[in-house]
Parts: sequence; C-alpha cells; structure tokens
Amino acid sequence: MAIDMNNPYIRHYCKLVREYSSPGQLQREIILDFIHKTQRTFQHQLDDDPYGKLGTYYRINPELRRPKFTEVAMLYESDRLTLTQYRTGSHSLRIESGRWTRIAREDRHCKCGPNVQTIDHVIFDCPLMEQYRLNDIINIHDFFHHDGAVLFINHSKLIL
Ligand SMILES: [Zn+2]
Repeated sequence: MAIDMNNPYIRHYCKLVREYSSPGQLQREIILDFIHKTQRTFQHQLDDDPYGKLGTYYRINPELRRPKFTEVAMLYESDRLTLTQYRTGSHSLRIESGRWTRIAREDRHCKCGPNVQTIDHVIFDCPLMEQYRLNDIINIHDFFHHDGAVLFINHSKLIL
C-alpha cells in the first residue's frame, strides 16, 4: 500500500481525513484561520499607526467582510469603484499622494490649513466639507455603511 511506502503526501491526506469530518469543515476552518491571522496582523498595524493604510482599513472593516454596497444593484460602477478606493486607501487624499512624492506625513496638509488630510479629517473635521458632512455619523466604520457615503466622497474630490 502507498501508506506503507511512507509517502508524505499520502500520510498528509490520511491525517486530514482523520481530523475533519468533511472537505467543507476543512475549508471553513482554513478560512477562519486566515481571517484570524489577518485580523492579528491588522490589529498590530492599528496599534502602531491608526491612520496608516492598514490601520485605517481595519477601522473601516474590522470584520474583514465584503462590503454591503457590492450587493446593491442600483450602485453605479463608478461609485462602487470610488467607495472601494477610499476603503482600501487607494485614493488621492494628501495622506496617500504625499507618500508617493515622499512628503513627510506631518506635511501632507489639507487645503483647509495645517491639518494632515487623512480620510478621518475629511469625513469628520475638514471645514471645507462642512456642508456635505453626514452629521449622524460618528466613526469611520459607520460612514462606509451609510447611504450618503458615495455622495460625500464624490464631493471630497473638490478639496484634492
Ligand atoms: Zn481640511
């Protein structure tokens, strides 16, 4: 028998059969393990730098779930793309564009003054965005689950 030949991959598959009741159980455990490892990595990034790319993303999506807006049939593709860019830090706010040109983080100022133009600043603090602000939103996670997020983000391009 193959198992008697001490074949490593056969032994590996025999071990999987002993440890898991079905391929679905194995798949679920692999996915959960991946999510937990990724959450630990993101939590370290969040602890080190809450306004960095990963720290910001983790504050937006601590569950590491697919956003609900991907399920909304009436969302324009351009709006879905814009939301995704802002969720993942692939936008042109100064916190990111300054990185591309090697400007010190503390010098990546918003048009409104000496504030660093982070996504948090734009959503919650920037006086240039005051008229578009979603006043019932108090954290960045809730912002990206609000129906008005797309409109607000499209307006935020005015201060780039
Ligand atoms: Zn500002």
